[in-house]
Amino acid sequence: MRIGHGYDVHRYKNGRKCVICGVEIPSEFGPDGHSDADVATHALMDALLGAAAMGDIGKLFPDTDMKYKDISSMYLLEKTVEAIGDKGYVLSNADITIVAQRPKFSPYIDKMRQSIADVIGVDIDRISVKATTEEGLGFTGDMSGIAAHAVVLIEERD
Ligand code: MG
Repeated sequence: MRIGHGYDVHRYKNGRKCVICGVEIPSEFGPDGHSDADVATHALMDALLGAAAMGDIGKLFPDTDMKYKDISSMYLLEKTVEAIGDKGYVLSNADITIVAQRPKFSPYIDKMRQSIADVIGVDIDRISVKATTEEGLGFTGDMSGIAAHAVVLIEERD
């Protein structure tokens, strides 16, 4: 068994779609970035790659490469799972924490869990998604951005 941690931050921009864990959340602003800027999925991919000691998403999917412009992070997650699979690893479980003042994520938690589970090809009970605020403090508190952490356990396939 191997453990991995991932962390990501994106700046909010007015008028951008807010797609987190592959689910579009109603919001007047969303994370800005080269891809769809799905901050939680990016943290999850970095955790998977970290667990396998395979670098990070910047190495696998360079943001200088135009083919990744506005790409769905769920597609990148699928590719990441394939990459660790090629090394003989499968996901045991993942725990994702979204840190944001707004929008409100609680009504979408199970939808986000299912969306991640479907792409990875595991049961929903292996995927945890949580959301918290930072009580109005810092860059998430003043809504200039959104952060996400992910911790995963991967296992060698037998
Ligand atoms: Mg990112």
